[in-house]
Amino acid sequence: MAEHHEELDEAPPPPTLDPETAARRRAALAHVRKFGDPVLRTKARPVEVFDDELRDEVRRMGALMHDAYGIGLAATQVGIVHRVLVYRVESDSPVNALVNPEIEWSSKDKEWAEEGCLSLPAVHVDVERPVFIRVKGFDEQGEPILIEASGLEARVIQHEMDHLDGVLILDRAPRDQRKEAMRALRAALESDAAA
Ligand code: ZN
Repeated sequence: MAEHHEELDEAPPPPTLDPETAARRRAALAHVRKFGDPVLRTKARPVEVFDDELRDEVRRMGALMHDAYGIGLAATQVGIVHRVLVYRVESDSPVNALVNPEIEWSSKDKEWAEEGCLSLPAVHVDVERPVFIRVKGFDEQGEPILIEASGLEARVIQHEMDHLDGVLILDRAPRDQRKEAMRALRAALESDAAA
């Protein structure tokens, strides 16, 4: 069904990680809230104060995303109920932060693609989303920003914005994929707990 095999907000890690990098990835993933944690179903509150604490939060989220080999991360995924997300589609570009994002416009043109999620280990499901979006929000300094995004960038932003409303890709997956995804998820969470 999916035309592309992009994985959000989880990017596929390189096939062989050296032990140190693998350990760092595991440590980062341990900080990411997993399915079953009620915070993932919480609607995050708008940020009202753009202070050092917020900038610190954004910095920590960017570092965690980097170490976890993610391409996006929402604040709720680390237990913070702020409308904050970070993403980075190109691995060598700087981390983008988006505070209080709002979709101003999205295209009627939609596309299916496979998505994964750092909070849903072993889950890969197809999700249909608008191909083009225009999003307004603020950076971590409180400067207004307007982003016109397409393709993978638009998809990551929409995936992370869903998190801020307590919505997960399981909710958007075709019914026939949901059952299998839940099975894989339960098995992954159990083996995580056993490890
Ligand atoms: Zn996610």
